[in-house]
Amino acid sequence: MTNDDASQTSAPAPVESGPALLAYALALELEASERYADLAEQMETHNNPDVAELFQKLSRIEKLHADQVLEQAASLSFDLPKIAATAYQWEDPEGPETADFGDAHYLMTANRALTLALHNEQRAFQFFSRIAAEATDNDVVVLAKEMATEEEEHVELMEEWLAKFPPTDEDRADDPDPPVGVD
Ligand code: ZN
Repeated sequence: MTNDDASQTSAPAPVESGPALLAYALALELEASERYADLAEQMETHNNPDVAELFQKLSRIEKLHADQVLEQAASLSFDLPKIAATAYQWEDPEGPETADFGDAHYLMTANRALTLALHNEQRAFQFFSRIAAEATDNDVVVLAKEMATEEEEHVELMEEWLAKFPPTDEDRADDPDPPVGVD
């Protein structure tokens, strides 16, 4: 038996090396970039250009971070390990099922989209904070702290925007199958 047989484990292994941390960071940033692009589309469909623009900007920022992680890994000659998809995928705060964010029928209000983003930015912040607190390798601690700080800024940004978009009647109605073609 070797350590390579651990692929059945769903819980993320403790992150104790630079390559493992960068692998998680890369997966997290790419997932966030895609989700923000999806949310931007949702907000365009929902006639909310301001929030659509915010999500487009965040999608670019997260992609930029992913590129930086790749550059960092290359410059350190790191071979990034493969990690379990469930460890970094965005989740819906209202339920365990993964929402199909890209589905055109999954119409979201600004409040709901921002709540979703806030929830997942908080998860990212907690993820990196925990690594920073638990890691024994000083390089990993420093890197994880930097990443946690970035995610904390995203959390604060989402909170600011959420304050501008409180829940509406539409949010409270919570209709899973809203009528089509009603303006
Ligand atoms: Zn983020």
